[in-house]
Amino acid sequence: MIIIKILNIFFTQIRSIAMVGLNIFSKRETKMYPEEPINLPSRYRGRLILTLDPDGEERCVGCNLCSVVCPVGCIALQKSTRKNGRWYAKFFRINLSRCIFCGLCEEACPTCAIQLIPDIELSDFQRKDLVYEKKDLLISGTGKYSKYNFYKRSGVSLNRNNSVNKDKNTNFIDVKKILP
Ligand code: SF4
Ligand code: SF4
Repeated sequence: MIIIKILNIFFTQIRSIAMVGLNIFSKRETKMYPEEPINLPSRYRGRLILTLDPDGEERCVGCNLCSVVCPVGCIALQKSTRKNGRWYAKFFRINLSRCIFCGLCEEACPTCAIQLIPDIELSDFQRKDLVYEKKDLLISGTGKYSKYNFYKRSGVSLNRNNSVNKDKNTNFIDVKKILP
């Protein structure tokens, strides 16, 4: 019995050495990051950004949905209204040291304003430097959704005298009348 055990250990060791020998000349999978750049998939969930719509307007309407859905509560913002009635975020703050990059904020956002991009180089020396303000988050482009314009779909005024709506001759529903 003892002899069988010894033989078993011996052959296990031989097999391990043989496997190392077989793989010694095979292609290396490990990337020498950061010297060697890594190509992340385009939908990889990394750094958060705020985007503009195709007309160059801020997409974020300050609805607060991203903040409510965030499981770690790292988004803070305040809604305000422009002279033309359009809502926007007066301030928008994300504490990236708490973010777990789950992507729920992006899923909840009705305007596709907030997006996660494949950028993982976020380390810093002080936690306070990982609190990103709106100026750090807002980019000058549309991000992943180049054609989506929330205001062209849902932001149309309910005012029937509005020339845009007159042309379309749309029958709007008064949502207050269908509330339970
Ligand atoms: S990715 Fe997740 S944790 Fe990070 S801000 Fe969005 S909802 Fe919060
Ligand atoms: S980023 Fe999107 S979900 Fe968050 S407040 Fe702005 S519009 Fe609403």
